[in-house]
Amino acid sequence: MNSNHAISSHALVWFRHDLRIDDNQSLVAACQYAAEHQGVVRAIFVVTPKQWASHDVAPIQLDFIERQVNQLAIELAQLGIPLDICHADDFDAIPEVLLHYVNTWQMTKVFATSEPECNEQHRDKAVIEAGIELELSQQHCFLPPLSVLNLSGEMYKVFTPFAKKWRQIAKQDPIQTLTRPKPIAAPLPTPNYVEFNCTKICSGQWLVGEHAAQAKLRQFALDKVADYQASRDYPAIDGTSQLSAYLAIGILSPRQCLQVLLSHYPDALVHDESFGRCWLNELIWREFYRHLLVAFPKLSRRANFNALADNIKWRNNPREFQAWCEGRTGYPLVDAAMRQLNQTGWMHNRLRMVTASFLTKHLLVDWRWGERYFRQKLIDGDLAANNGGWQWSAGTGCDAQPYFRVFNPISQCEKFDPTGAFIRNYLPELDEVDLKLIHKLKIPTQAQLFVDTDYASPIVDHKFARTRAIAVLSAMKKGS
Ligand code: FAD
Repeated sequence: MNSNHAISSHALVWFRHDLRIDDNQSLVAACQYAAEHQGVVRAIFVVTPKQWASHDVAPIQLDFIERQVNQLAIELAQLGIPLDICHADDFDAIPEVLLHYVNTWQMTKVFATSEPECNEQHRDKAVIEAGIELELSQQHCFLPPLSVLNLSGEMYKVFTPFAKKWRQIAKQDPIQTLTRPKPIAAPLPTPNYVEFNCTKICSGQWLVGEHAAQAKLRQFALDKVADYQASRDYPAIDGTSQLSAYLAIGILSPRQCLQVLLSHYPDALVHDESFGRCWLNELIWREFYRHLLVAFPKLSRRANFNALADNIKWRNNPREFQAWCEGRTGYPLVDAAMRQLNQTGWMHNRLRMVTASFLTKHLLVDWRWGERYFRQKLIDGDLAANNGGWQWSAGTGCDAQPYFRVFNPISQCEKFDPTGAFIRNYLPELDEVDLKLIHKLKIPTQAQLFVDTDYASPIVDHKFARTRAIAVLSAMKKGS
């Protein structure tokens, strides 16, 4: 430490959902600040078990975060930056806890990455009101919320023009990621592993560490992006990046994704026909939902985007909801998808759409029930994307699937799992059943098969459910 210690200013990096060293604006800013003021850099992560429990953060995601935070602590120690893992019950307790450490360590300024959710924004406001100097960087998106606006200066309500404007702005950016800061002090001893005191489920199938995440990103860009458009809808094919868990907690930044994509497909921002365009669009969907969350804070409170949807008379049958959760609806694609979620903490995008549509349209269960269940299970749980996806599927959202368009879970099964490989993987009880029968939803009963299939019969008839859904959801029709 500098001999002018008394006049030094020290920087504290408060890690939240930006759990990486590379391309981390807050960390870079903190290191610069400390260098300019002859100060030191420390880092903190605050464990908030009550907050997580009350907001249904999935135990598998908490395990993933715990492992990544510990990995981050090791890598920061090599740069001479100590990371302390502290405890506050919930967000209300954070200002006091943070103030305690700021005072104890004589930190002058705190650096963090902003977050789009309402509670998170209130938390940061409370921290500032408690007298802490907090500098927020806008890096959870590639382009910050409220920076992609229509000619009237408002947030777009339709994805296509948003994406067009987004690409126009992004094109002007040289898209360089920030390199990791140089060591600012001698390496520190390797820190001990710190366990979070909350309910967790093993996330060991997902490697932690930003090097692993970056390697996965590079491999995907090299091997799979070109085929992404053709393969992304088939859950039996490993055709999507499976990077959502890394983006959700910030092991990867969207800027890193874009940079790697453009290094392989430099025309992705410019040409519709570029092989990189389809995957780029998914990254833009991620941004669209985050921008919406900031522009329309009611979304964080789980309000319907379309106020007319407040008139919907959901059936909300608890028994049917439970059957959906457990993968016992008698619709093989829906059931296999729910079992994928329950067993792995991840679900393929096509299946998220199919299962969400089934719950909200076939069973007429309020989308908030399904959204909450997903949050409780997903390793990539993310309020903006989850809320956006659920409201899109239910037809209540911004630029959503129209209420009268009801996915047919039988034809979706035939189309997107033509070989039955995905279904058979998760529904072993259908092993003996002819694929044609599965695809036509003509699954023989146990007695007919002479084997123990134990597979549920359809919870509702598709044609009946479709007609009922359109009638009930027409509450969203303008002028109704
Ligand atoms: P890829 O297809 O490789 O896409 C790359 C990245 O783009 C993803 O990692 C993700 O960050 C982003 N992305 C892709 N599709 C979308 C989308 N439709 N909306 C927003 N971002 C997208 N995604 C989450 O990250 N967390 C959630 O909690 C979540 N809940 C969803 C709920 C429903 C009902 C639906 C329909 C979608 C949900 N999604 C969610 C979006 C999408 O299903 C996942 O991001 C995707 O399946 C993750 O797999 P991947 O990383 O292989 O995606």
